[in-house]
Amino acid sequence: MSTKSFALSAELAEYILKVSLRENPILNQLRIETSKHPLARMQIAPEQGQLMALLVKLMQASKILEIGVFTGYSSLCMALALPPDGNIVACDKSEEFTDIAKRYWKEAGVENKIELKIAPALQTLDEFIKAGKTEFFDMAFIDADKSNYLAYYEKCLQLVRKGGLIMVDNVLWRGDILNSETQDKNSQYIQAFNQKLAEDQNIDLVVLPIADGLTLALKK
Ligand code: CA
Repeated sequence: MSTKSFALSAELAEYILKVSLRENPILNQLRIETSKHPLARMQIAPEQGQLMALLVKLMQASKILEIGVFTGYSSLCMALALPPDGNIVACDKSEEFTDIAKRYWKEAGVENKIELKIAPALQTLDEFIKAGKTEFFDMAFIDADKSNYLAYYEKCLQLVRKGGLIMVDNVLWRGDILNSETQDKNSQYIQAFNQKLAEDQNIDLVVLPIADGLTLALKK
């Protein structure tokens, strides 16, 4: 599950939440509703959402690209941190999951900040590149099918501005990335992805052990 910081002891993880989590009540309701979903593990951890919201402010971002929406917790965290004229392009294939997201975005009054694109994300990103939107976005968050992580990343690297930030979720895959004989396809994709970024001189790079691992790549 990526809804908790697995690399910490349960006690430390609990303590960090106790002394730092300031979750908006609507985010909290969304997290509770999503926790009952069979795919609840796809939701990001609340402290990660809070970090991402802080990064939105730190970056003074106004244009964000999100690849993988699920029930919209991460989009909502970022939208609440954006200025009133800020905008997130949120890419997902699922109407079912994003219908939940839309309800909460509306309730939080940020639905006008989030433009949902229901289509394969690679297609949406290619359309942006074709339309000349390279270096357009301040930030991107990648949290979708792991088989396409590298392709998403390479396109996002074109679409974010110089000094723009790309965040990538699940880069520790519950620690299975340490297993060189893993048969888990997702694990293999993430291993290859992490290795590729380790060698990429186009970015400044940090891998944080928060939740299920979050990579921060700042475009040089
Ligand atoms: Ca995730």
